[in-house]
This record gives sequence, structure tokens and C-alpha cells, in this order.
Amino acid sequence: MATKNKTVIVTGAAKGIGKGIAIALAKDGFNIVVADMKQDECDAAAKELQALGVESVGIVCDVSSAAAVEGLFKQTVAKFGKLDALVNNAGVYPFVPFDKMTEADWDKVMTVNLKSVFLCSHEAAKVLPPGGRIVSVSSVASLIGFEGLTHYCASKGGINAFTRALALELAPRKITVNAVAPGAINTPGASGGGDEQTKQTVALIPLARMGEPADIANAVAFLVSDKSDYITGQVIVVDGGWTLR
Ligand code: NAP
Repeated sequence: MATKNKTVIVTGAAKGIGKGIAIALAKDGFNIVVADMKQDECDAAAKELQALGVESVGIVCDVSSAAAVEGLFKQTVAKFGKLDALVNNAGVYPFVPFDKMTEADWDKVMTVNLKSVFLCSHEAAKVLPPGGRIVSVSSVASLIGFEGLTHYCASKGGINAFTRALALELAPRKITVNAVAPGAINTPGASGGGDEQTKQTVALIPLARMGEPADIANAVAFLVSDKSDYITGQVIVVDGGWTLR
């Protein structure tokens, strides 16, 4: 399955891991829909991707809104005529101690991180052809606990479980559904801890470095390609060995 003239939607693709994924898929020949919160950031990312020789468009979409997600998929099909793959990447990870966590904190994280995966996958399933792909960005927080992230850990665990169940439902149509679980990755969203925290994190990682968006993008590119034709319902951990011990 050559990737030329294939179209992928990447959510949260204006920066960080999502942008890394968009760049990797553009290098593989995919036309890219950059779906993110701010038009100027979407446009800037789309321009960068066009420079790699593919078509790209930036569409503002809050992935936690059903109406916005419906509009995203309608605009994508109107522009490119079809959709071949979806990458559910957009997510938030605000640290809140459990005793201070409000219902609004919980709902925000569950809506942006997990309901969005339902909404986008639901729209994608209406239009993906046989050979279509859904890949979601989970986290090692789906597998181990992190203080201050009970809502986040629950949302990412939900993505893993959702991935397995949807993989079963879409298998008869030859659409695969997988997830990638990143460890500690250098992104704008994760940069708040400072040098000392980075040093402490790296000390726990067997491969002794932070991950880069390209590390996650390489795994996503594999799962989106036809090289992964016989893999579905899986969560691939990409964490430099962080969670091995
Ligand atoms: P990031 O640097 O904050 O980038 C995320 C992008 O998603 C931003 O452009 C953000 O827009 C956008 N976004 C946020 N809420 C959205 C919404 N409701 N609709 C559409 N777009 C939205 O984050 P990242 O570190 O690259 O993380 C990307 C994904 O990887 C997330 O799912 C995260 O949970 C996961 N992950 C990250 C790490 C890590 O170490 N970085 C580790 C494990 C998993 P704004 O900036 O305008 O809000």
C-alpha cells in the first residue's frame, strides 16, 4: 500500500508529539490535516508540512466537542475526497493532587483525552476504507501510577481498553486500531519541570535520555503503514525502558 495520495488527520498536531507525527507521516507521503486549537498555529504547522512536498491544511478543532469533530471530518473529506488514517494525539496533563481535584478538573481531562478519542474514532469509522488505520497516543501513565495525575492515568487507561475493543469491532472491515504509549518526551507541554526535574527523570530511564517527538512518530508511522497490517488492538510502549523496572 503506497502512501502517496493518502490522507491522515493528526489531532494536536500544531506542536509537540503531534507535530513530530505529522512531519514523519508527511515524509512518508501522507497529506496531513493539522487539527488543533489555534488557527495561526495550525496554519504555521501546515505550511511547514507543505514544504515537505505534501498537501496540508490546518483546521481549528476542539476535539472534545462533537460538533467541532464532525466539522473536522466533513472538511477533510470535502478537501481530500477521503480519509485513510486518524491519529488521536491531542491531550492535556494538568497536575492536581487528588484531595484538591474538582469535578471540573476530572471532566476536562476525561473529555479532552478520552471522549475525544471516541468522537474522532466514531467519525473516522464512518469513512475509513479497508486498510484504514486508527492510532491513539496513550501514555505510560496508562500502565503505572503518577501522583497528581489520577484523572490523566484513568483517561489513558481508558484509551488502551477502548483500543482493544474497537480493534475487534473494526477487524471485519480490515481497519486496524492501535495505541502508542510514550514515556517522558521533550515537548512544549512537558517542559514545565525545569532542568533538575529532567535530570531526575533521565536518571530513571535505562536508555539515559528524554524521548523526542520523532521517537513516538517513528512508532506511529509504523502502525499507520502497511508494514503493520497484521497488528491490531496493541499498545506499544516507547519509553527508553523507563517502565521496565
Ligand atoms: P503539547 O506539547 O501540550 O501539545 C499538545 C497540542 O494539543 C497543543 O497544540 C494543544 O493546544 C493541543 N490541544 C490541547 N487540547 C486540545 C483540544 N481539546 N483539541 C485540539 N487540540 C488540543 O503536548 P504533548 O506533550 O505533545 O502531548 C501530546 C500527547 O502525548 C498527549 O495526548 C499526551 O497526553 C501524550 N503524552 C505526552 C507525553 C510527554 O512526555 N510529552 C508523555 C506521554 C503521553 P494548546 O497548546 O493550544 O492547548
